[in-house]
Amino acid sequence: MWTEIAAHISQITGKTFDIKNRRSVSGGCINQGYAVSSDTDTYFVKLNRASQVEMFEAEALGLKQMLETQTIRVPKPIGVGTVGDSAYIVMEWLEFGGSGKTQDWEEMGRKLAQMHQAKPPQPNAELNVGKLLAKRGESPVESSKNQPSTFFGWDLNNTIGSTPQINTWTSDWAAFFTEHRLGYQFTLAQRRGGQFSQQERLLALVPRLLKHQPQPSLVHGDLWGGNAAITKLGEPVILDPATYVGDREVDIAMTELFGGFPAAFYRGYNQVWPLDDGYTQRKTLYNLYHILNHFNLFGGGYSSQANRMIEQILG
Ligand code: ADP
Repeated sequence: MWTEIAAHISQITGKTFDIKNRRSVSGGCINQGYAVSSDTDTYFVKLNRASQVEMFEAEALGLKQMLETQTIRVPKPIGVGTVGDSAYIVMEWLEFGGSGKTQDWEEMGRKLAQMHQAKPPQPNAELNVGKLLAKRGESPVESSKNQPSTFFGWDLNNTIGSTPQINTWTSDWAAFFTEHRLGYQFTLAQRRGGQFSQQERLLALVPRLLKHQPQPSLVHGDLWGGNAAITKLGEPVILDPATYVGDREVDIAMTELFGGFPAAFYRGYNQVWPLDDGYTQRKTLYNLYHILNHFNLFGGGYSSQANRMIEQILG
């Protein structure tokens, strides 16, 4: 298998890559990670079952689109494929382990804000846009002439942890978040035996809670502390994304969920694109998505936590 992966790397990079050293890298939640090196170069490779190749394709597309914003550093994706029973993704190796000085975290915040400000991807196939506008009751020709199309979603579905994340392009953010984020997770959670007595009330309230009409941003989508790191050279990096086009606040909310990022990160972010006052009200709703997902992945007390959050949102 490794010979095929090395051949794929050689083919893409145009430079012969013979694996001289391979070591396992711990820290991943879903996949097995490896550092593979020739005499001169090192790459990071993640492996999973062959059936998971689409997950890696979505990860590679997300990394590519984040890279194209030329803002925050992400590992450059090199290639995705399958060999026998395994799927793999190869990406640039980054030397993490920087001490994370205050100024590095401030820079992380500034660069993330710049990524959120960058022009986000929109539905790419012309046909696709035509169909979506027709659904909105607009003529594709007129609309594309007179107004920029702004959709939330993404060209591929991806995964959040190992749970599918549905990214159907939708013009209304509240509708997107109701159906494809909370609604989808609630359905899975019920199948798992979760009980959420106020679920319908909450879902009905989302359009009012999310009436702020956010600007569509390319978001990381899974920005907890384990997916943000500083290189030895002090460069901030985000990795392992669940990318889509959404409200930038979903990323900031998630940074606050499991312990929070250093204060310098928020300072940096606000220097570039200050958060709106309404963010603090929306934060719990946005993080409910991840807590429901944690219930779907791990079960246990996450359903009680979700219910407490729902109570808090409903006031
Ligand atoms: P998983 O998809 O299994 O959650 P991650 O993408 O989070 O795996 O990677 C697991 C760990 O491997 C990270 O926490 C980090 O320490 C290391 N890692 C991830 N990407 C790279 C990279 N491009 N270069 C070097 N190390 C990496």
